[in-house]
Amino acid sequence: MKKVLITGASGFLGSHLCERFLKEGYRVIGMDNFITGDSKNISHLFNNPSFEFIEHDVSEFIKVDCDLDYILHFASPASPIDYLKIPIQTLKVGSLGTHNLLGLAKAKGARMLIASTSEVYGDPLVHPQTEDYYGNVNTIGPRGVYDEAKRFQESITMAYHRFHGLETRIVRIFNTYGPRMRLNDGRVIPAFMGQALRGEDLTVFGDGSQTRSFCYVDDQVEGIYRLLLSDYVEPVNIGNPHEITIKDFAEEIIKLTGTNQKIIYKDLPVNDPLQRQPDISLAKKILNWEPHIGRAEGMKKTFEYFQGLSNDELYKSEH
Ligand code: NAD
Ligand code: UDP
Repeated sequence: MKKVLITGASGFLGSHLCERFLKEGYRVIGMDNFITGDSKNISHLFNNPSFEFIEHDVSEFIKVDCDLDYILHFASPASPIDYLKIPIQTLKVGSLGTHNLLGLAKAKGARMLIASTSEVYGDPLVHPQTEDYYGNVNTIGPRGVYDEAKRFQESITMAYHRFHGLETRIVRIFNTYGPRMRLNDGRVIPAFMGQALRGEDLTVFGDGSQTRSFCYVDDQVEGIYRLLLSDYVEPVNIGNPHEITIKDFAEEIIKLTGTNQKIIYKDLPVNDPLQRQPDISLAKKILNWEPHIGRAEGMKKTFEYFQGLSNDELYKSEH
């Protein structure tokens, strides 16, 4: 049985990855310190004999007793309000955490895949974003703690590959959504859906002309799985190229949820990228991958998930 360590296991993407690898017959070791995750996301896996969970902060020295075939490093705050609230932990998990995990991968002879992000392109001047674009990041802006941690993460991963011959993979993930996103993590999809369910107006930041391209979680997990098993070392964009303005998206959510609320406008956060769309030609070519779940279908499934939350969860506010 192949063994895979998944960090960020109790988070949104990590929990879906744990499920996928269990389904493929792997032994899965999940690791998380619950800083933005929730044990509820993986509680259904605790009785599975192929699943083990270790509560640990990966920015501290990591000890794993068994051998490992693969390591997937997904631990990191991932929403703008999370990484603005815990900026130092964000920098540490991308830098020190990645260093610890690369050391572990080297000691175990494991292949390591890191979760990078479209944020390495910053507020992009090239559109759509191709992997060879170097990006436009404000290092000292509030989002810099996340963007630069991820850029460092890519650099140190390539250094371990070049210097130590470690097997490494880098996925640049574009906005991904689906069940188990945290309702109050501030990202636009849980924000709008929570507002619709609570009967509040939908908050569009800026004039809503900024764009994003949303990928359903099952498509994202499939892309990551294929990349891990491929022999491609350099970064690969995985996302859904179907781009929409945030204002049009808010209108879609109003229709989908049937809410009577309206759109209200708030200030655009500092350095909020004005446009974002992945060029996925590389993923198509080397992984034979492209997304199959359109926004209408994916949003419906996601809304059903949020509708199933209790009132306590719906009205809980951490921020
Ligand atoms: P999430 O917040 O739901 O999950 C992150 C998990 O990492 C949480 O369970 C959190 O508790 C854990 N974590 C954070 N710091 C940790 C530490 N020091 N030690 C151990 N665990 C720690 O976020 P997500 O959306 O699932 O994102 C997962 C990964 O994918 C992140 O690395 C993120 O940067 C990347 N990513 C996600 C998206 C997206 O659209 N969802 C886009 C780009 C990149
Ligand atoms: N956004 C918004 N209203 C909200 C939350 C977010 O208009 O209540 C906007 C945000 O300014 C950004 C887009 O939606 O332009 C996507 O934001 P998110 O935090 O989901 O992700 P990211 O900015 O990292 O792509």
